[in-house]
Amino acid sequence: MICYRLHCPAGHEFEGWFPSGKAYDRQRETGLVSCPRCESTEIEKSLMAPAVSRTVDIERITPADQLRMALHAVRKEVEAQCDNVGDRFAVEALKRHNGQDQGERRSERGIYGTMSSSERKRLEDEGVDFTPIPWIDHSDS
Ligand SMILES: [Zn+2]
Repeated sequence: MICYRLHCPAGHEFEGWFPSGKAYDRQRETGLVSCPRCESTEIEKSLMAPAVSRTVDIERITPADQLRMALHAVRKEVEAQCDNVGDRFAVEALKRHNGQDQGERRSERGIYGTMSSSERKRLEDEGVDFTPIPWIDHSDS
């Protein structure tokens, strides 16, 4: 995750969290990044903000607001680029890791889904490359 300090033409400053610099560029181009105060999508990067949450509010955006915006952005990104395998995530991830993913499910796309803590432990033991992400419900906005 990367944190950018952003501003709109009206000078409102805010921070946004993005999965990567590339993701920021893409989201900005497609109008997904907007000023929380005036909803302008003419967003420019200010200087890089440290990737540490601070107690100072910028333009009254609470850390909770920031987090929710960031989580929505992550979820959009994941949904756009990966296939939802639901609770079969651990199974599918292992298959891919072991090169057994053949036939219909073969694709360049990543997968996402849910797993239990024991499944997660198993994946870690197997050395499967995965990224736990906090998931936010679209209705929670
Ligand atoms: Zn603005």
